[in-house]
Amino acid sequence: MRLVMLGPPGAGKGTQATKIAARLGIPQLSTGDMLREAVASRSTSGLRAKHIMDRGELVPDDVVLSVVTNRIDHSDTVNGFILDGFPRTVMQAEALDQELATRGIKLDAVLEPEVDEDALLDRIRGRAEEAANNGECIRSDDNPEVFKTRLDVYRAQTAPVTKYYRSQGLLNTVDGLQSIDVVTEELAVALAKMSPHQMRSDS
Ligand code: AMP
Repeated sequence: MRLVMLGPPGAGKGTQATKIAARLGIPQLSTGDMLREAVASRSTSGLRAKHIMDRGELVPDDVVLSVVTNRIDHSDTVNGFILDGFPRTVMQAEALDQELATRGIKLDAVLEPEVDEDALLDRIRGRAEEAANNGECIRSDDNPEVFKTRLDVYRAQTAPVTKYYRSQGLLNTVDGLQSIDVVTEELAVALAKMSPHQMRSDS
């Protein structure tokens, strides 16, 4: 299955994408992770992206699109993939449709855990605290100030992507405030309805 995981920052996209990817045996393609790897490798595009990411803004569409199109051509995507954090603009969504069409494939479904804004801020704080307690690196964009920008960017540029996919009949929204496992189960049920033969419901 070829899937997209949408949702504002802190909604649990990454967590849910990991779990759905494992159930389906397909790779999770996180543009945030790919860009952080580019930053860590200190490539020219990575260094350019770092400042934009640290401010909570969006990396230019052409940069992200080229990262994604290269990645979906790897052999591990033969049975599908779940895109996590992409597309984030309607332009990216349209470009993705075109790229998939040139490969003779298309998206099967779009998933969206929905979470209200107060809960999102709490989650971002929790994520930073948990990382600190575990001695892990805290993401430079996981702080309340940058989070506000990320949320503004989401509202202005990414929320319209939801409408784009709703109009294509691909969007499945579930209540993201429930426990992680319940959200996964509801997403799995939504997927099973769209594509009954491809979804296992037992893991
Ligand atoms: P994430 O890990 O998905 O929260 O992404 C972290 C940061 O990477 C975002 O705040 C953006 O700066 C950048 N980023 C990730 N995906 C995209 C995308 N599809 N388009 C533009 N920027 C992105």
